[in-house]
Amino acid sequence: MQFSSYEDLRSRLLSHAVTCEAVVRHYLDRIRSHEGDNIYITVFEDEALQRARALDRKLALGATPGRLFGMPMAIKDNISMKGAPLTCASKMLEGYTSVYDATAVIRLEAEDAIFLGKTNMDEFAMGSSNENSAFGPVPNPFDSTRVPGGSSGGSAAAVAAGLAMVALGSDTGGSVRQPAGFCDIVGLKPTYGRISRYGLVAFASSFDQIGVLALNCDDAALVLEVMAGVDGKDATSSANEVPSYASEMTDVSLKGLRIGVPEEFFNESLNPDVAGVVRARLEELRLQGAELVNLTLPQSDYAIAAYYILVTAEASSNLARFDGARYGYRSEAADDLSSMYVKSRTEGFGAEVKRRIMLGTYVLSAGYYDTYYKKAQQVRRLFQDRYREALKGVDVIAGPTSPFPPFGIGDKTADPLEMYLADVFTVPASIVGMPALSVPVGYDSLGLPVGIHLICNFFEEGKLLGIARHMQRPDSSRKPAPSNH
Ligand code: GLN
Repeated sequence: MQFSSYEDLRSRLLSHAVTCEAVVRHYLDRIRSHEGDNIYITVFEDEALQRARALDRKLALGATPGRLFGMPMAIKDNISMKGAPLTCASKMLEGYTSVYDATAVIRLEAEDAIFLGKTNMDEFAMGSSNENSAFGPVPNPFDSTRVPGGSSGGSAAAVAAGLAMVALGSDTGGSVRQPAGFCDIVGLKPTYGRISRYGLVAFASSFDQIGVLALNCDDAALVLEVMAGVDGKDATSSANEVPSYASEMTDVSLKGLRIGVPEEFFNESLNPDVAGVVRARLEELRLQGAELVNLTLPQSDYAIAAYYILVTAEASSNLARFDGARYGYRSEAADDLSSMYVKSRTEGFGAEVKRRIMLGTYVLSAGYYDTYYKKAQQVRRLFQDRYREALKGVDVIAGPTSPFPPFGIGDKTADPLEMYLADVFTVPASIVGMPALSVPVGYDSLGLPVGIHLICNFFEEGKLLGIARHMQRPDSSRKPAPSNH
C-alpha cells in the first residue's frame, strides 16, 4: 500500500477501494517493523484502529467526510493529547499524562484525522539532531549512521520512512524545517501566531510555533488550513482570516517571481556540495522565468547569538514549572522541600536542558540583563526591520536549509556551539516571526537529501507553499528512503 499524497489516499477511501481500518493496519505494521528505530515514543495501536473503524462506519452511513478524513498522522511528543502520555522526551515527565487536548489536535480530530502515536524528539525541543532525547537517538531513514535532524527528528523520520502520512512538529528556531531538510520532506513553520500554541509545551514562547511535516506542499497546506486561526485559549494567536491555501498556492507562477538570494547565506562555511545543489535548483527556476535577485542581509552572523540568548532566557522561566511537585518525576532522594526541587530537577533534566536553564538565568540576572538580554532584543528588532525591508523588493528569500548535509550520530554532541550552527539559516525567520519552510530539491554526492529554505512575509503561507511547490522535485525524481521498504 503506497500513497503519493493525501489526495490519492482520500480518493481511494471515498471510492471504497480501501478502508480506514486497512490503512491504519498498514501503518501500524510499518511502525512495528521499525520498532528499533525509536521513531515513536507512544503508539496508539487500539485507539487508532477503533477510530478507523468508526470512520469507516461514518462513511458507510453516508455522513460527510471531514477534510482530513482518514489521514494517518503522528504528533510530536510535546503536544498535549488528553489521556495520552506526554514526555517531551524527558525523564522529567515520566509517568505524566495530558489532562487536555491541544487546540491543534482538537481541530485535526474534528476533520477526521487519525492519530497513530507520539514521536521522539530532543528533550523539551532543545537540539538539532534528536540526540538529546531520554529515549535515545533516531536514525536518519536515508542512512542509519546519521541523524534525522531535530528537534522534531521522530516526526520527520516517521513521514520519510512511511510510518505516518503527515506529522506535527514544533519549531522554535528550525525544529520542523531542519529535520525536514535532512529527511527529504517538506517542513513548514507558519507565521508566529497563525496556529494556537495552546497545548504545546512551552520552550521559548515568543518563538514557538506548531509546524507541519509532509511529503508535499499540498498535504502541508491542507493540514495548516485546518489548524490555523484564532483561539481564545492563546492570546498570541492571530485573528487574521484563514485563507484557502490550496487556491492561493495555485495562483503562484514562476513568471516574474522575484527570488531574493542573500550573499551572506553562501559563505565559506557552507558545504560546497550543498551550495552546488541549491544553486543549480535556483538556476533551473531562473530558466523557467523566475528572477534571481542578489540581496545582502548584513549581520546575519548575529542571529545564532541573539537566538540563544533570547530562547534560553524564555526557557529558564518556562521550565521553572517542572519542580518535582506538579508534573511527572520526583526524586526519591529528597528529604525536604528545597532538596525536592533541586534533586528532582537535577535528576529529571538532561544536560542540554540544564545548560540552557543556566544560560537563561545568567542572561536575565541583574547586572547582565542589559548586556545580553536587552541587546539581543535590540538585535531581534533589527532583524525584523531588515527582513521587512528585504521583502519589499522580492517575493521570497531563498537559501539552503542547513549549512551541511545530515551528519553522523555522535559527530557534534561534544561541541554544543557546533551543534547550534545547524540552525544558522532557519533561526532568522523565527527571530522575525515570518513563515518559512524547507522543501526537498535534490541530493548531494553521497545521495543525502538537500533542502532549500524559503522565507515569505507575515501571513503569506499560501504564496510560500506555492513557490515551494514549483521548487520541489517531482515524485519521479525522488529517491525512496532506503528504510522505506
Ligand atoms: N535547534 C534549535 C535549538 O536547539 C531549534 C530548536 C527548535 O526549533 N525547537 O534551540
